[in-house]
Amino acid sequence: MGSPIAIVDCNNFYASCERLFQPKLNGLPVVVLSNNDGCAIARSNEAKALGVKMGDAYHLNKDQWAKWGMHIFSSNYTLYGDISARVMRVLSEFTPDLEIYSIDEAFLGLSGFADPEGHARTLRETVAQRVGIPVCVGISTTKTLAKVANRTAKKTPDSGGVCYLDTEAKQTAALARLALDDIWGVGYRLPRRLAEIGITTPLQLRDACPTMIRQRFNVVLQRTVMELQGTPCIDLEQDSPDSKTICTSRSFGRYVEGYDEMAEALTSYVSRSAEKMRKQGLATPAIMVLVQTNKHKPEQPQYYATRGVKLTIATADTGRLIRAALWGLKQIYRPGFRYKKTGVLFLDLAPAASVQGSLFLRPDSPERVRLMQLVDELNARHGRDRVRFACSGLDRGWKLKAEFHSPRYTTRWGELLNV
Ligand SMILES: [Mg+2]
Repeated sequence: MGSPIAIVDCNNFYASCERLFQPKLNGLPVVVLSNNDGCAIARSNEAKALGVKMGDAYHLNKDQWAKWGMHIFSSNYTLYGDISARVMRVLSEFTPDLEIYSIDEAFLGLSGFADPEGHARTLRETVAQRVGIPVCVGISTTKTLAKVANRTAKKTPDSGGVCYLDTEAKQTAALARLALDDIWGVGYRLPRRLAEIGITTPLQLRDACPTMIRQRFNVVLQRTVMELQGTPCIDLEQDSPDSKTICTSRSFGRYVEGYDEMAEALTSYVSRSAEKMRKQGLATPAIMVLVQTNKHKPEQPQYYATRGVKLTIATADTGRLIRAALWGLKQIYRPGFRYKKTGVLFLDLAPAASVQGSLFLRPDSPERVRLMQLVDELNARHGRDRVRFACSGLDRGWKLKAEFHSPRYTTRWGELLNV
């Protein structure tokens, strides 16, 4: 069996952040709205109990919500980014192996810990005490099963917010209580296609043949099946099965001290994330930039910071996203530290086609959309970063060491094997 891995997920994160500063709202229904007050993107438990759904439009529901005494907030990504940094800072004290996955979720490697469950309970109390945000912790042997555990912790009131699925029997029992689309990486459309081959429950998916799944679907779903079976195979730095958040963050191959090099690296990650996002037809209303020193070198001065940046309107345009990210970096960059990592998260992704403009705010223009398509096509055909934004730099001394990287024989024309 693999070593334990935990996922910590903040409960109703944006709503909890708003409550932090208005404790009188504890126990009352709270909704946070997307950019331009479009629709619900976070709900307190009380709002959920009243039947408010993710994506419910404000203008269609405001009378009903007023009757319920709903407390309504416009999204405040600066605040959420800052609270996120505080939570992550606490989490980093609980593992040498922290992988930030979204603004309110992180995976923690717990290999070598004698009592992962007890550790998780202490962690949960510490976050509540020091930051004031409620979290749930799921622990198991793969990331996908840890996600299942987290969901189980959330849905089981007497779990105390922690669930450890350490045996196959417990995993089976937990999976039996879930629906297919509760499984991490099984999106909206997959359940129908899975039903065509007789798979309608998480347990049936777990017991499917991974090779068959790869042939009929794709390698992403194959990994999900293997992870459900207990074989760890999802590396977030390479691939996330989820499309609600896109994160690109990397450790540098060496220390980076200057702002310019950080900005180059960040620009390149934004470009990468934007390309992934466009591939899925999505756009983002807000991003979060993060910087981090080397936590494995406690003798050096340590610094970790994030900054949330709200776009005036959701976009998939690399140029606009780079501008926003560099602005965010300027707010948190401090000279004098030796940085080991930077990254960017795109938050609250939604279909680009449904972005609503207004008199003053225009979605990406057809010309810009076409330009981005061209960039993506050229890079797909001629190799990653062949066409890129000038501020991502030409030298790239900061790049992650990958001298031993084998060519991408099967996915790049330029790296096809010559015989
Ligand atoms: Mg959450």
